[in-house]
Amino acid sequence: MPRSRVARRGNKRERTKKNVTWLSVSIAGVAVLALGVAFVLGVSASMPAVVDSGDVELSAEMLDTSSQQELTAQVAPDAATALIEVPDVCGMQLEEAETLLAVAGFSVIRVPTPVGESQPGVVLTQDPVQGSRISAGSDVSLVYADADAVADQTSTATSTGSAHGELVVCIDPGHQLKANLDTEPVGPGSSDLKPKVTGGATGAVTKQTEHALALIISNKVKERLEAQGVTVVMTRVTDAVDISNRQRAEVANKVNAQLFVRIHADGSVNADIQGISTLYPANNSWVSPIEARSMRAARLIQDATVKATGATDRGLTPRGDIAGFNWSTVPSALIETGFLSSPVEDKLLASREYQDKLADGIAAGILAYLDV
Ligand SMILES: [Zn+2]
Repeated sequence: MPRSRVARRGNKRERTKKNVTWLSVSIAGVAVLALGVAFVLGVSASMPAVVDSGDVELSAEMLDTSSQQELTAQVAPDAATALIEVPDVCGMQLEEAETLLAVAGFSVIRVPTPVGESQPGVVLTQDPVQGSRISAGSDVSLVYADADAVADQTSTATSTGSAHGELVVCIDPGHQLKANLDTEPVGPGSSDLKPKVTGGATGAVTKQTEHALALIISNKVKERLEAQGVTVVMTRVTDAVDISNRQRAEVANKVNAQLFVRIHADGSVNADIQGISTLYPANNSWVSPIEARSMRAARLIQDATVKATGATDRGLTPRGDIAGFNWSTVPSALIETGFLSSPVEDKLLASREYQDKLADGIAAGILAYLDV
């Protein structure tokens, strides 16, 4: 990431770099409103009982505008603390996006990322996401495709990645604050399109969201791996991001991670279904180079996590239809840590003790895979 391309302040850059996170940048001091989100659950023909299956398009999202208005009224009781809605600038040219945001009253932080298959200069993601309401003058980070970032990022990945013997694991906390139902190819060169990132499950009793839970567990796994000397790259460090499943895989690819671990929770129309399962890429030519290693990682993570938690063992699930797998060039596994649709498991998943057990198990599985 060339220094000259960063428009504003190095300390934001430094934080970004320390987290080794390109696609999501946390913004200190920015009040992001939690939007009320409701989910309409869909059902898949192939997996009729399970609502959440990685990044499959099994759920649609609705914005609960009444609760959004309520929340706004509480946070902004008068004009002095008025909040402004962040516009959608993804897909625009950087300069155009900066102008729009400046007119709206925001400051912009540029975060260059390698071009990949994007057009140079195009804004790929924004943080906070569109529709967030934040105070005037707040920072909005724009991750944009920068032609000059390619060589720099690649050399960073090579010099810090497996080529030099360092152990790097990429962790992807599933979903995000708002679904993005725009589509992307399910795999390289495919005309089969899938939503960029769906809404996740919601706790039957606690109403906790899958994206928030996934981030909590992911952070706990990160701590445990780092304590063993493993470098951890997170695809996101806040919930208010807009990162597609393909882009998440590309983060793991760019850092040449030994393993790409995706953390989710499940949902079902049957409230009695409980347990842990782990998905791995299989059954297509995109993932054939990583299938065997992914299956081995999935087996180790599944077994260690079932052992640590005492949860029902729902086994491994090979999947050929998941964009976050098909775009990955490094071994990958996705753990469904339990069913938020089960009142019993929802409450367990909300407890710190159980989250710690899950993280113990997931980390143990990853370390076994890495032979640490
Ligand atoms: Zn999920």
